Amino acid sequence: MTETAPASENIHDVVIIGSGPAGYTAAIYTARASLNPVVFTGSVTAGGELMNTTDVENFPGFPEGILGPELMGHLEAQARRFGADIQYEDVVEADLQVQPKKLTLGNGDVHYARSVILATGSAYRELGLDGEKRFSGHGVSWCATCDGFFFRDQNVAVVGGGDSAMEEALFLTKFADKVTVIHRRDELRASQIMADRALQHPKIEFLWNTGVEDLTGEDKLQTAHLRNLKTGEASTLDITGLFVAIGQDPRTELVKGQLDLHDDGTIAVQGRTSKTSLAGVFAAGDVIDGTYRQAITAAGSGCVAAQDVEHYLADLN
Ligand code: FAD
Repeated sequence: MTETAPASENIHDVVIIGSGPAGYTAAIYTARASLNPVVFTGSVTAGGELMNTTDVENFPGFPEGILGPELMGHLEAQARRFGADIQYEDVVEADLQVQPKKLTLGNGDVHYARSVILATGSAYRELGLDGEKRFSGHGVSWCATCDGFFFRDQNVAVVGGGDSAMEEALFLTKFADKVTVIHRRDELRASQIMADRALQHPKIEFLWNTGVEDLTGEDKLQTAHLRNLKTGEASTLDITGLFVAIGQDPRTELVKGQLDLHDDGTIAVQGRTSKTSLAGVFAAGDVIDGTYRQAITAAGSGCVAAQDVEHYLADLN
């Protein structure tokens, strides 16, 4: 059976998938450009990763800092003010190789779009401990650049053995008294230069062959419960901060096999633009960024995508 083409009035100019800083910034810009954007927020993290944190002190414009959920509430309200249609739905299927693009939602509805902005972010890998969620924003963090400042003169730990774990540990030495790197193996995966820097740093100590089994504390993290994976010996480490640096997975399930991806799983875009390998498909934020991954860089990237969409649609007409 052949599918009937949708009537042109049922085709959106632009659909934005994701409601983090990248998605909402793209929505603000495309709404102000009269492109009537539709945003599908996703149901698990509507508002994006900052919904999982407390104080955000490095987003420009808020000299006293702002709570993550409050900041995202402002971005959503700003997008709504200019007419963005924000729907709390998941996109479960995206056929991007056709024109118009076809998007199927979790509730079964089908939407069509001349252009799509993918702003689905990147999921930080978790240890899978109960305490991890409980102390998220209260001692447990996935981002030293974001939260290192809160741990001045304290004892903290980093879990992981790759380049990003070493980077986090070295960055944290600027603030913390002592940084303990907890690693499951007896050698690092990090590049030699990063490993050497961390191994030689007087504030960094290593716990090899060690896993984290539990995290405890009252309102805030106080103790990590550890186990030596070779000897089975249990121990505890008193820390106020635990930085989980065991990798992240760009959320690309929707587009795998349709778009070019980099080896690290991020969506490949052309130069400084948001243009992916498919015409009419743009990507922004952490899903294209293996390096910076900050709210402000994601927002800037959403602005780039909105402008690229504007030019693309102007050329189509
Ligand atoms: P995200 O914010 O990850 O948003 C992705 C969006 O895509 C979500 O809304 C999700 O629901 C949606 N989505 C995914 N799949 C689908 C789908 N199939 N259908 C519909 N929607 C979908 N950065 C800072 O600058 N300062 C900080 O202080 C800071 N603190 C942080 C604290 C924590 C605990 C974490 C985890 C991150 C922190 N970051 C901070 C990093 C910052 O949150 C990210 O860099 C930023 O949120 C990335 O924005 P994004 O829009 O690319 O993606």
